[in-house]
Amino acid sequence: MPRIVVIGGVAAGMSAASQAKRREPKAEVVVFERGPYVSYGACGMPYNIQDPARDIEDLVVISPERFRTERGIEVRTGHEVVAILRAQKKVSVRAVETGKVDELAYDELIIATGASPMRPPLPGIELPGVMVLRDLQDGRAMKRFLDEVRPRSVVVIGAGYIGMEMADVLRQRGLAVTVIEKLPDILPGYEPEITRQVRAELTRRGVSVQVDVATESIEPGGKRDSDGLIVRTSAGLHTTDMVIVSVGVRPNVALAQAAGLVLGPTGAIAVDAELRTNDPHIFAAGDCAEAHHRVLDAPAYVPLGSTANKQGKIAGANAVGAHERFAGIVGTAGFRVFDLEVARTGLGQSDIDRLGLKAVRAASTHQSKAHGYPGAKPLTTVVFAEKGTGRLLGAQMVGADVVAKRIDVFATALTARMAMDAIEELDLAYAPPFAPVYDPVLIAATVTLKELAKAGRG
Ligand code: FAD
Repeated sequence: MPRIVVIGGVAAGMSAASQAKRREPKAEVVVFERGPYVSYGACGMPYNIQDPARDIEDLVVISPERFRTERGIEVRTGHEVVAILRAQKKVSVRAVETGKVDELAYDELIIATGASPMRPPLPGIELPGVMVLRDLQDGRAMKRFLDEVRPRSVVVIGAGYIGMEMADVLRQRGLAVTVIEKLPDILPGYEPEITRQVRAELTRRGVSVQVDVATESIEPGGKRDSDGLIVRTSAGLHTTDMVIVSVGVRPNVALAQAAGLVLGPTGAIAVDAELRTNDPHIFAAGDCAEAHHRVLDAPAYVPLGSTANKQGKIAGANAVGAHERFAGIVGTAGFRVFDLEVARTGLGQSDIDRLGLKAVRAASTHQSKAHGYPGAKPLTTVVFAEKGTGRLLGAQMVGADVVAKRIDVFATALTARMAMDAIEELDLAYAPPFAPVYDPVLIAATVTLKELAKAGRG
C-alpha cells in the first residue's frame, strides 16, 4: 500500500490528496497542514469580509473530520513539515502546539506549500491594525478587527487585484479608503485604457487613489491601539484606523530548496509537464510551483486558485502511477471592483517589449448588448496580435457587463493559437439581452485586423 504524503492543505494540496485517493483507494494519503484550516476558498474571502453576518468559516468546503471519515484521507492540521529527507524518503514534522518532531516515510511526496504575502521591511509593519489577507486566519483576524475596533478608515498599500477587491469591500462596509501604489499606475500589467476606467470607478465610489507614492513607515497614532495609525509616504501623512498590505506574494520554497530541489527562473519550484520536480518521487503543485505558459512557451509564475486546483489534481493522479500532463496556462485572470469587471489573458505590452516581439495593439470600445436593449454598457478591449502571422498574443477588457466570460473567448483562442482573422469569424451567441449582433470580441478582432493591415503596409 503506497503512502502519499502531501504538504499543505488548501487548493493544490487537497485536490492532490483527493485525486490520489480516488485513483488508488488502497493508497494511504496523509496531509500535513501547519494552520488550523484545510480546503477553503481563499478567493471568496473579500466577499465574506464584506458581509458582517457571514462567518469566515463558511468558506471551508470540507472539514478535516469529513476528509477522514468520508474520503479516508488522514489530515493533520497544526503540523508543519520542517524538512524533507530525500535520501531516506521521509519528512520531519513538527506539531505546532507541542513542538514535538516526528518523522514519517513516504513513497511519493506532493509539495503544495503555496505562497506567502510579501511584507516590505517598513518600520511599523508589525503594528496592530496592519494586516495582510492570505489565509483564513488572516480573514478571521480582519473580520474580528472590523467588528471589535470598528475602524472608520483604511489605507490599502498596493493596487493589485487583492488591493482593488479590498478597497471595494471595505468601502461598501462604510470605511474611508485610500489606496497607495508605488508604481506610476494601478494594476501592473494592465493597459492604460483599462486602468484609467478602474481609477475613475474608484474615484466615483469615493476611494482616494495615490500612485507614484512610496510608503515609508507606519507609526502608532497615539499611546492606545484605538488611537489608530499614521502612514508616512513620499507624498505626506495619512492618519488611519487600519492598514492592509497587498503588495504581492512569494512562493513558499524554503523546504524544497533546503532539500536540494531545483527552483526555476521565476523563483518557484521547477516542475515538468507531469508536475514532477527534479526528484522523481516528489511533485509540486499550486502557488509554490511554476506553470508552463503556452504563449511564452516558458515557465511562468502566475499564482492563482484555478491553476492550483488543476495542478493539484494532476500531481495527485501522477503520484499513484498515472502519467497525466498539465497543459499549462495562458495567463488568464479577472476580478471585480465595484461595478466594473476587469480581466486579461495572454501577454501584455511589458511582456511583448521584454520578449522583443513585433506586435500591433488595438483598443476599442463597444456596447455589451444590442442597440436599444436596456442595460447595455460600454466595454473597452485592448488586443495584441503578432505582426506577420496575425496570431493573437493577448487581450484585456474592462466594463460593467460580462467581461470575464468574454475574455474566456480570447483565452480559448490563445490556447488554439488562433489568428485574428479566425477570431473575427467565430460563431458567438447573439440575442439582444446578452450581446450586439457583432459581439465586442468580434469587433475587437476586426479593429485589430485593421491595425495588422496598416502595419503590413508600413
Ligand atoms: P495556499 O492557498 O497558499 O496553501 C498552502 C498551504 O500550505 C497553506 O495553508 C500553508 O499553511 C501550508 N503550508 C505551507 N508550508 C507548510 C509546511 N511546511 N508544512 C505544512 N503546511 C504548510 N485565485 C483565483 O484564481 N481567483 C481569484 O479570484 C482569487 N482571489 C483571491 C483572493 C484572495 C484574498 C487571496 C488571498 C487569493 C486569491 N486567489 C485567487 C489566489 C488563490 O487563493 C491561490 O492561488 C490558492 O489559494 C493557491 O492554493 P495553494 O494550495 O497552492 O496554496
